Amino acid sequence: MNAVKIPFLNLRAQYLTLKPEIDSAIQTVIDETAFVGGKYVSQFETSYAQTYGVKHCIGCGNGTDAIYIVLKSLGIGPGDEVITTAMSWIATSETITQTGATPVFVDIDPEHYTIDADLIEKKITQKTRAILPVHLYGQMADMPKIQKICEKYKLYLVEDCAQAHFAEFNGKKAGTFGIASTFSFYPGKNLGAYGDAGAIVTNDDALARKMRLFAHHGMLSKHHHEIEGINSRLDGIQAAVLCAKLPHVESWNQRRRENAELYTQWLSKLSEVKVPEIRPHAKPVFHLYVVRLPNRDQVQKRLLEKGVETQVHYPTAMPFMPAYSYLNHKPEDFPSVWKMQQEILSLPIYPELSRDDIQFICSCLKNSLS
Ligand SMILES: *Cc1c(COP(=O)(O)O)cnc(C)c1O
Repeated sequence: MNAVKIPFLNLRAQYLTLKPEIDSAIQTVIDETAFVGGKYVSQFETSYAQTYGVKHCIGCGNGTDAIYIVLKSLGIGPGDEVITTAMSWIATSETITQTGATPVFVDIDPEHYTIDADLIEKKITQKTRAILPVHLYGQMADMPKIQKICEKYKLYLVEDCAQAHFAEFNGKKAGTFGIASTFSFYPGKNLGAYGDAGAIVTNDDALARKMRLFAHHGMLSKHHHEIEGINSRLDGIQAAVLCAKLPHVESWNQRRRENAELYTQWLSKLSEVKVPEIRPHAKPVFHLYVVRLPNRDQVQKRLLEKGVETQVHYPTAMPFMPAYSYLNHKPEDFPSVWKMQQEILSLPIYPELSRDDIQFICSCLKNSLS
């Protein structure tokens, strides 16, 4: 097998563009022993809330905890149902189960791969408490439609923005539609820490207080525990790294959009390849650039032989995972996602890719099709 010419991710390339800032940010945290909580965590929370135009940002351990903290603080638990998409990372549904509630999956919109808003109402029951859309691959779900449904049935709207930092719909940012929204700063995300990290944003003062309490052992001041909570902290080194990177996210997202445009320009000439559709009025951030192909596994293998790494997000949609076999779902229950999971392939899309890299990937892809 040939050596990898284009890796799927290249986190080192980004580090090298910011090395002095990042090294000094990390060294400062060590010098000040500001390891947990403290100055840099507050600094990041304030900057993120400001950049996002929201009142509160609560840092936490990771993007999975972020969802769990929101759902628990909304009082969701045993006997409740939460509606979510059939295609996401398992964190989205796992956290619903962790609260004691039941995840109720909805098929995807086959053009945009986010929850199909037209199929949601059929799944609403007396037990439904919330809708949890995911802005998958960096493209937002149909938020105006989902917002209307939430208003009509008095349901909480919680957005999983782990793949959509600063994506927009009608000029409004992902994460500002629902009562609270969650972010992951896992290293490979559009804004990535140097380890695990996450955050929640909200404009609701009472909910913000509850979430902060729950994430920190139920205490807001030392040894005063109002409730039982969990330990989910953003650490100082991660916060300092995130502070150093935050001013650059918009330009990285712009580079991702430019890369996506190049791909789409070249790949839409190939009749076997379906390129991503962008919703009208949407400004996606292309956490992933996902195409659909016949013979996906064979194409992926051939690309790797030519030195191009790709991935599949995700090979098994949640309803068909062994973890959810107890729900007894069949392919006919979710026809769009069943078909999608066999055809999708994620191509490298990180901001540091050059025009030549993308051209190379496209020509390799073309030659791998037959
Ligand atoms: C990454 C991700 C998460 C979980 O984030 P972690 O920080 O890894 O816990 C949740 N939802 C989606 C859609 C993700 O992509």
